[in-house]
Amino acid sequence: MLAVVPPPVTVRVPAKVNLHLAVGDVRKDGYHELATVFQSLSLTDEVTVAIADDPGVEVTGEGAESVPTGASNLAWRAVRTLAAHVGRDPDDPKVRLVIRKSIPVAGGMAGGSADAAATLVGLASLWRLDIGRDGLANLAAKLGSDVPFVLHGGTALGTGRGEQLIPVLARHTFHWVLAFDRRGLSTPDVFDELDRLRAEGDPPRVGAVEPVLEALSSGDPRQLALLLGNDLQAAAVSLRPGLRRTLRAGVNAGALAGMVSGSGPTCAFLCTDADAAVRVAAELSGAGVCRTVRVAQGPVPGARVVSTDESP
Ligand code: ATP
Repeated sequence: MLAVVPPPVTVRVPAKVNLHLAVGDVRKDGYHELATVFQSLSLTDEVTVAIADDPGVEVTGEGAESVPTGASNLAWRAVRTLAAHVGRDPDDPKVRLVIRKSIPVAGGMAGGSADAAATLVGLASLWRLDIGRDGLANLAAKLGSDVPFVLHGGTALGTGRGEQLIPVLARHTFHWVLAFDRRGLSTPDVFDELDRLRAEGDPPRVGAVEPVLEALSSGDPRQLALLLGNDLQAAAVSLRPGLRRTLRAGVNAGALAGMVSGSGPTCAFLCTDADAAVRVAAELSGAGVCRTVRVAQGPVPGARVVSTDESP
């Protein structure tokens, strides 16, 4: 009798922006202590997982040429981690991944983490695992600090390395414009630059998180715009001074506020509503300060199955 091969599973997963990112001291394990408010955005990658005799990773779309397809691909690390966890052979998991990217690579929007989260969800469905969201979240935290959040989605307060999450009430939808830079920035380089700036002087630090949480629950983008803050921004701008011009251009185009997303170099602009976001995006595109402009809204759900191809 022929074994029935389960059909491929496709998972959609959001990018994140940090509305508030407070970077604390370096811990003994080398990570910085963080307090951050994440929001998931409608800028998404899709990952299809399929049973295959020729295992591997294929990447298409935004920045695909700079994504590794070997063992260092974070999504492939997710395959190996989940396989080992459920007693399958991590060196021969018999799966193939196709990653369709829209999230900029090394853009400060957790693109690699998103693909890893999507892979966990896709494989749990493909392999019909009885693992549950909490089980996946534990594996996600092992793969990277941002993986649990993009698995979860929505709006959340992250502490520790950013992996310990508490859901946050965010009323209404917020409208964003994203400016992709021509090249990515390495997250470790940006943290190193922050350490250097702090050793030399006193770069600005974000305020308390509570007012950000209040603005989110009020749903008023004007109130939230006054409170957006990112301790990594000074370091990202120090490494990529052109970002100053991008940030200014977005506000001149009518955004309520602009900030560097996470470790950058993507800049995120909060807008009054959907129409304003389209206007800001059009004007920013014409300003010649970035490579690509996208509109997005948040919060959106975390990694979720969007299709299983039941056709033969
Ligand atoms: P974060 O915001 O979580 O700090 P990021 O969005 O700035 O991360 P990523 O897009 O996750 O950065 O990419 C960081 C590096 O990881 C890239 O330079 C790339 O070489 C590597 N990488 C590994 N797997 C992936 C993947 N699936 N997608 C994108 N990059 C990947």
